[in-house]
Amino acid sequence: MQTYQNFIDGQWADAASGRTFQTLNPANNTEVVAQYPAGDADDAKAALDAAARAFPGWAATTSVARGRVLSKASQILETRKGELARLLTREEGKTLAESTGEVQRAIDIFRFFGGLSYTLGGQTIPHDLPNNLLYTVRQPLGVVALITPWNFPIAIPAWKLAPALVAGNSVVLKPASATPALTFEIARALAEAGLPKGVLNVVVGSGATVGLELATNPVVSALSFTGSHAVGQGIYEQLAPRMVRAQMEMGGKNPTLVLDDADLDLAATLCARAGFGLTGQACTATSRAIVDRKVLEPFVEKLVAQAAAIKVGNGLNDGVTMGPAINEAQLQTDLEYIAIARQEGAALACGGRRLEEGELAGGWFIEPTVFTNVKPDSRLAQEEVFGPVIAVIAVDGFEDAIAVANNVEAGLSASVVTRDVKRAMTYADRIQAGVVKINQISTGLALQAPFGGVKQSSTDSFKEQGAGAVDFYSRIKTVYLDYSA
Ligand code: NAD
Repeated sequence: MQTYQNFIDGQWADAASGRTFQTLNPANNTEVVAQYPAGDADDAKAALDAAARAFPGWAATTSVARGRVLSKASQILETRKGELARLLTREEGKTLAESTGEVQRAIDIFRFFGGLSYTLGGQTIPHDLPNNLLYTVRQPLGVVALITPWNFPIAIPAWKLAPALVAGNSVVLKPASATPALTFEIARALAEAGLPKGVLNVVVGSGATVGLELATNPVVSALSFTGSHAVGQGIYEQLAPRMVRAQMEMGGKNPTLVLDDADLDLAATLCARAGFGLTGQACTATSRAIVDRKVLEPFVEKLVAQAAAIKVGNGLNDGVTMGPAINEAQLQTDLEYIAIARQEGAALACGGRRLEEGELAGGWFIEPTVFTNVKPDSRLAQEEVFGPVIAVIAVDGFEDAIAVANNVEAGLSASVVTRDVKRAMTYADRIQAGVVKINQISTGLALQAPFGGVKQSSTDSFKEQGAGAVDFYSRIKTVYLDYSA
């Protein structure tokens, strides 16, 4: 078992209350992974004060100097890649291959923004008059609060932190209580890389205490959140009276369309990887396979075969391709949706059960599950499950497929499998989603490209990831200079 403390003003500190909590391995819930301080509003206030004190000094450095710290942190994380990936699997449950990919993603994100630091200037704009200089500069916002979910415990903190820091802000980050370890490992790497004290502070604790303080404390200039829609909406409403800059990235109900000309082997592989990979616990997971009735039967057969080939188990074990649900609550949610789908008249094509036999007894394991005969307006077709459950919805032709795909409140990622370029491009034009994938899985993103949703998946005013991620964390000032006199 590892023991972590909050990271406030460059110091590792217990919670002011002295209280602690532990995380358990979701593959073996008798194994304690780590112990943490149970932070509350007092700890969050101390972190915000430290961030406010550190801001002027950090903002006064150049972006290139800040980028050097990020690049160095990337190198430090790289030396610990294997160890961090194992820790991630033990705390979150995803397979070691998935964890290794996620740790690599964080390493690459810090390297990317380290390099980008050389480009973070403003613009010169031609003035109407001679001997006038008109230009913009990019400035940091101040103290930025970050609130992150449990499902990508190193990648999401990294993709918020790197642009926030390189832009010159100081930060208070609250990771989700189910998986805080990797956020503290980022803090450790940044401290070793030379980040000045107070520029990054990490406080773990509940949403109702630490989260509430971050959302309501007037020192916060901007807040970036990733998590569920219900929580995101609540925080957005808390920020609105002060008009604090807000970025809320929330859940999805992502479709993969399988058109009548699709390569069905490819379609089944993409749906299985995007629906069952990461145990379905990805905001971009495919949870709806929207399939042309002409190819429904052979597609379902192939998808069920893909599900049957999945080996569920402890993500550290060789050959395991799907880990457990994060905790008992999420497992119960998955099972509840399976029961709801049955009541709604959907047909169970495979899966549907908790797995508790043998070495799976101590974990939150569930079978990869496929339902057919799912009605587009049913709860299974409308609500985010966040588990390995794919709803197959039959449609008649391309227009019907697009209408069904758009008939949800979320709009994050959306795939289509077809050989027809015209229909693929029409889909890209008309689908209400922030990310479109053509003949690719709905999960998986290029870190150098913008990411974010539409509709209830995002406040959609700023994108995350890519060079444009810095826009949320900085403001543009316009300067007019007249040297004609
Ligand atoms: P969650 O909304 O329960 O929690 C997210 C974070 O908010 C956690 O740190 C939590 O402690 C905090 N929080 C909870 N209540 C709060 C409150 N009242 N005030 C302030 N903070 C509070 O989400 P989760 O279960 O951790 O994550 C799963 C959700 O995240 C899914 O809906 C998933 O789709 C979404 N997600 C979205 C993206 C994206 O980029 N759009 C990426 C990953 C996950």
